[in-house]
Amino acid sequence: MPLTGHCLCKAVTYTAAVDQPLITAYDHCDDCQRQSGSTYSLVTVVPKDSLTINGPVKKYTSKGSSGNDVHRLFCSECGSPIAHDPDAAPPIIALKAGTLDTEIKKNLKPDTEIWTVSKLPFCSEHLEKPFKHMPE
Ligand SMILES: [Zn+2]
Repeated sequence: MPLTGHCLCKAVTYTAAVDQPLITAYDHCDDCQRQSGSTYSLVTVVPKDSLTINGPVKKYTSKGSSGNDVHRLFCSECGSPIAHDPDAAPPIIALKAGTLDTEIKKNLKPDTEIWTVSKLPFCSEHLEKPFKHMPE
């Protein structure tokens, strides 16, 4: 079953033609905290060539913690973050998993945490596979 989702105002919709995500993780990097306005960003990683996005997407590009550009895609109407696309890992893209359809996101199985070096101290959740930075 493909992964489908949409932004808050529903102007942007997307489909990833995959059965399972490659990885579902908490991303604790400072940039994701700022973009999401929250403790961490819940991300579901899929092959970039599996993803089709429709609607008015804007892109904000800045240097990621790896030193390479990260392109952050968001709805130009309501501002919801949709995905981040790191140049450090060209074959993949990280969907902002809170935008997935409700029945899909309820069944996600996050098992990995990345950038725990900037994990906020009151965040008491701990997943199986923590990485201070990125997995190698
Ligand atoms: Zn929107």
